[in-house]
Amino acid sequence: MPRLVMKFGGTSVANLDRIRRAAKRVGVEVANGYEVIVIVSAMSGKTNELVGWVDEISPLYDAREYDAVVSSGENVTAGLMALTLQEMDVPARSWQGWQVPLKTTDAHGQARIEEIPTENLDAKFNEGMKVAVVAGFQGISPEGRITTLGRGGSDTTAVAFAAAFGAERCDIYTDVDGVYTTDPRIEDKARKLDKIAFEEMLELASLGAKVLQTRSVELAMRYNVRLRVLSSFEEMSDTAGTLVCAEEDIVEKNVVAGVAYSRDEAKMTLISVADRPGIAAAIFGPLAEAGVNVDMIVQNISEEGRTDMTFSCPVDQVARAEKAMHATKEAGEVNFHDLVADTDVAKVSVVGIGMRSHAGVAAQMFKALKDDGINIKVITTSEIKISVLIDRKYMELAVQALHDSFGLEKAA
Ligand code: ADP
Ligand code: ASP
Ligand code: MG
Repeated sequence: MPRLVMKFGGTSVANLDRIRRAAKRVGVEVANGYEVIVIVSAMSGKTNELVGWVDEISPLYDAREYDAVVSSGENVTAGLMALTLQEMDVPARSWQGWQVPLKTTDAHGQARIEEIPTENLDAKFNEGMKVAVVAGFQGISPEGRITTLGRGGSDTTAVAFAAAFGAERCDIYTDVDGVYTTDPRIEDKARKLDKIAFEEMLELASLGAKVLQTRSVELAMRYNVRLRVLSSFEEMSDTAGTLVCAEEDIVEKNVVAGVAYSRDEAKMTLISVADRPGIAAAIFGPLAEAGVNVDMIVQNISEEGRTDMTFSCPVDQVARAEKAMHATKEAGEVNFHDLVADTDVAKVSVVGIGMRSHAGVAAQMFKALKDDGINIKVITTSEIKISVLIDRKYMELAVQALHDSFGLEKAA
């Protein structure tokens, strides 16, 4: 029997009524002849609440206990979804990550999926089960402890199941009807894309567009999963939503595909470090060991053998970064005059495969920001994206200015 993965995000399972609506969609696909693996998120707001509790008790928490707490939201929705389906006479059973088992690394809070043995679910499908409801976002470490896959990780659970079980498609049901040129919540003129290339989606996701978790796009690309993003609130149809697919399958192409932003950035500057061979390793080694995800890096001009080193990282990792840097200073490994954290910055990026063959995108971006009086603090580029760090208060203005400047409200 053909298989389908259907993933429902937090807003799509926010209460019992929504769970019933989602279950009806699953029932339609079962009637269409599919065996369905349903991946559920926690009810919207639940994971934030759980994270808040952990933070309140222990800001520099033990990540194993963080996972024990924050994975629990998904368990509730998995059980409720299975019960709802059973009430509709659809043979369904729920599974927590460890029961599958979804095996992950032991990187608690950010674990990566290593393997999904299919025997347990296959056996149940063979006995006549039509729907396996799996709690998203969670797995089990080699030591047998519960892990989580990072925020938004249910998307990755969904794609991994689609790959492991050879699903015909992986449908990600969410609160928008597809992937847009930018977040429709902050730009009214954002345009829904019928298709987007894996590479572009990967960049948009990693630069902050939270509609899909980055890792889910990587997996879909690697295992060639047909990945579709669509709304759980609209009529069902075969052409709904956005298909994430190979570049060759897309006819219309704008130079810039979309604009992404990330609100939760911080800029940190080590003032007056010795400019000598090995200094970058001495700084960024301990930061990596402390679990700080450094993104942009700028080393300023050196004067009299000393320089300032600036880097950006997620704002919630500033305390960790400060602790790591002060420890290296005390150990005499890096000497710096001061460490200054600017926690009021945001990152705005433009992404497009067209940049590979089209010059002048950076210049156009910088001009659009200048025209709105927005100062750029740090710039980074790669083959298909340009990112800038700016004051957070200008973030929405910058997204709108760039969306306008690159004419994204119109298809190419
Ligand atoms: P879910 O709970 O279903 O996983 P998320 O909140 O994680 O949903 O992701 C959906 C949200 O992603 C949308 O509500 C939207 O605000 C945001 N988003 C950001 N960038 C984009 C984009 N380019 N296209 C669509 N949605 C986007
Ligand atoms: N509930 C988790 C989160 O909010 C995972 C997910 O929804 O994808 O991050
Ligand atoms: Mg999500």
